Amino acid sequence: MTDCIFCKIVQGEIPADVVYEDEHCLAFRDIQPKAPIHLLVIPRKHVVNLDDLKDSDRDLISHMMLTIPRIARQQGLTEGYRTVTNNGKGGGQEVFHLHFHILGGGKLHAL
Ligand code: AMP
Repeated sequence: MTDCIFCKIVQGEIPADVVYEDEHCLAFRDIQPKAPIHLLVIPRKHVVNLDDLKDSDRDLISHMMLTIPRIARQQGLTEGYRTVTNNGKGGGQEVFHLHFHILGGGKLHAL
């Protein structure tokens, strides 16, 4: 995806404060943090959002779900954290490359 900002981060074409990466995904600090620690976890592969996942992405999404708690622990979020994924315009998605927000480091309001 040539015009996808998160693909450009994956390719190293635009800078990001990357805190974790492996062969399938990476995590970097959100440029406009909504919590003391606000990370975005994205697949290297361009997937638009949850609606775009295929059966063949089962291992990828499983890997991401298992990796999010590891990243949170590495960031010192021992008291808990929130994960959010906005799905589609109606869900508040602004960047159309699947990402999971990790929010923590302070008291979050109840949903
Ligand atoms: P969403 O509304 O779920 O699509 O969230 C997109 C998030 O990406 C927002 O929280 C933005 O602040 C964040 N964001 C957009 N561009 C960048 C960037 N270049 N580096 C880090 N975070 C970004």
